Amino acid sequence: MCTHTHADADYHQTSGQHNHAGFPPAGHSHSPARHAHPARRDFLKSLIAGPLAGAAVLELAQHRAAWARAMAVSASAQLFDIEKAAENVYLARARAQAEINSNAAVFVNARDVLVVDAHSKPSAAASLIAQIAKEVTPKPVRYVVNSHFHWDHTQGNHAYRAAESKIDFIASNATRKLMTELSQQRLKESLEQAPKQIAALEARAAKASSAAEKDFCKEQIRQIKAYQSEMQRFDLELPTITFDDSYVVKDQEHELHLEFHGHAHTAGDVVVYCPQRRVIATGDMIHGFLPYIFDGFPKSWPRTIDSVAQRDFDHVLPGHGPLHVSKQPMTNMRNYIEELTMRVERGKKAGKSVAEMQKTITVASLKSLASNGYAKFLSDNLYKFEPHFGPPDPLQDGVNTNISEVFKNLDRV
Ligand SMILES: [Zn+2]
Ligand SMILES: [Zn+2]
Repeated sequence: MCTHTHADADYHQTSGQHNHAGFPPAGHSHSPARHAHPARRDFLKSLIAGPLAGAAVLELAQHRAAWARAMAVSASAQLFDIEKAAENVYLARARAQAEINSNAAVFVNARDVLVVDAHSKPSAAASLIAQIAKEVTPKPVRYVVNSHFHWDHTQGNHAYRAAESKIDFIASNATRKLMTELSQQRLKESLEQAPKQIAALEARAAKASSAAEKDFCKEQIRQIKAYQSEMQRFDLELPTITFDDSYVVKDQEHELHLEFHGHAHTAGDVVVYCPQRRVIATGDMIHGFLPYIFDGFPKSWPRTIDSVAQRDFDHVLPGHGPLHVSKQPMTNMRNYIEELTMRVERGKKAGKSVAEMQKTITVASLKSLASNGYAKFLSDNLYKFEPHFGPPDPLQDGVNTNISEVFKNLDRV
C-alpha cells in the first residue's frame, strides 16, 4: 500500500497493471471476468479475525452468523440505481434505507474504475461493487475518493480493500484528519441511536392502522438491526493518498481533477471534476436535500460553491438525491444557505433564541425556497430518497434543524 501526502497540486498517472480480485458477496453470482483473489477470498473470516479474536468460541460463532446474515441480506438486495450521466460516467443513486447510504459517482477509466464515496456500511459497498460489475464494467475499482469524512460516505471503505487487489483511498488532508479523530465516535453515536429508533418504530407498529404500515415498521427495524450487527466490527480505512488543494488522476480516457475549494459542508470537502465529460461529483457540498450544517461553515459555504461553479460542467453527481442536469439546483442550494445564514445572523444579533427564530423563519418566508421550484424539488427528493410511510417529514422540520446548526456555527470560517 502506498501512502503519499502531497502539499500541493499533484499529477498522477494511473497504472494499468492489476490483478483484479473479485469479491463475491454472499448470495451473488459475479461476472466471469472477475476472478477471486485467493488471499482475499474469505472476506468474512478476515473481518472477524481481529478484535474478537479473544472472544469465546460461541460468542464468535454467533457474531460470525449475525455478520453473515447482514452481509447476505444487504448484498443480495439492490441498494442502488445506476444511471449514465455522460460517456464513462455513472451515478449510483442510493435507495432509501433506514441507515442512510450516500450515492456513488462511478468513473470508468481506460483500465480501471474510480468511485466517489462508500456509503454507511461495507455490505452496501459490496453490493455496489457487484452491481458495477454486472451493469457497468468488469474493470476493477482502483480508487475510492472520500468526498468528506461523514460516516455515510466512508464506513463502506473496507469492502473495497477486501474486494480489490490494489486500492487507494483518496481524500483531502483535512478529511483524513477528521476521519482519524471522529470516525469511531460517529459510528458509536449512530449505534447508540439504533435502540431509540427501534423503540420508536416498535411503538408505531403497535399503533399502526394498517398491515402495510406495520410491515414498513418491521422492515425499518430489520434494516437497523442488520446495521447494528454488521457494524459491531469496524475496520477504519483511512485515505492512502491525500492532498491539500488538488490532485489529478490522468487517464487515457479523461482527466479527473480532485479539488478542494474551501470550507463548506465540512472542513475537507472535495469535488471530482472531469473537464472532458463536463461533469462534477460534489459529495454533500451540493446535493438534493436541505444542507446538513452540523459540521459546516455557513458563511464560507456559498463562496465555496461559487468557486466550484467556475468549472465547466453540465451535470452534477451529488452525494444524495437525483442527478442534476443543470446548475440550477446548485444555485438554489447556495442561495438558501446564504439567505438562511443572513437571517439567523440578524436574529442572533438581536438576541433571539433558536426557538424564536424557528417560529419566524418559515418555509414560506424564505425567498430562496420559493424560487425556481426549490421547495418542491426538496420535498420530492424527501419523498423519493428517504424512508417514510405516509407523507415524509415536513420541510419546515429540516429548516428548523438548519436554523439551530447555523446558530451554532455562525462564527466558523
Ligand atoms: Zn451524506
Ligand atoms: Zn455529509
